[in-house]
Amino acid sequence: RNVGPIGGLNPENGGSNDAKNLRVKLVVLGSSGVGKSCIVLRFVRGQFDPTSKVTVGASFLSQTIALQDSTTVKFEIWDTAGQERYAALAPLYYRGAAVAIVVYDITNPESFSKAQYWIKELRKHGSPEIVMALVGNKADLHEKREVPVQDGIDCAEKNGMFFIETSAKTADNINQLFEEIAKRLPRPASS
Ligand code: GDP
Repeated sequence: RNVGPIGGLNPENGGSNDAKNLRVKLVVLGSSGVGKSCIVLRFVRGQFDPTSKVTVGASFLSQTIALQDSTTVKFEIWDTAGQERYAALAPLYYRGAAVAIVVYDITNPESFSKAQYWIKELRKHGSPEIVMALVGNKADLHEKREVPVQDGIDCAEKNGMFFIETSAKTADNINQLFEEIAKRLPRPASS
């Protein structure tokens, strides 16, 4: 399949937002410890490295994917680490975000309840057109599952979100998550 991370942007397009090459801000939300940083690092670097932390505020990580219709999407990924403690930054964090990923841990019901809080925050601060994904992470720990798949499906459906279960540890469904988001992005009209 002709889909997947391809590294940097094509220098010829200069990173502009045209019909073929989109550049989007993506924010990641969820309780501490659900695996947000690991998901981002798995996607961007192809590694599972729990000791490496994504730094928030100063910069973001980016990754470009190519879709089958020869369009590219460059994700500029803002990890939420510590955001809860900096409520005043919230409007800045959400501003201009085209995509939001809300993550919970399938072994942790409290993180699932917290996901509903983050969805409300998104409604409050996010753009009305924001593409939202609900992600049940740590799917490799199925023997410790405490949040049924159906609960995730129902919650996502109720909130008009895309739903997927992932494992940053095994890489299961990580690329699929970002590909599905890319497909759902509104496209500028082609000239
Ligand atoms: P964050 O606080 O949401 O950014 O969470 P981290 O990405 O720092 O991950 C928290 C912990 O969960 C780390 O110890 C990771 O090793 C572990 N973790 C993250 N993703 C997975 C996963 O998919 N499966 C398993 N088994 N552990 C994971």
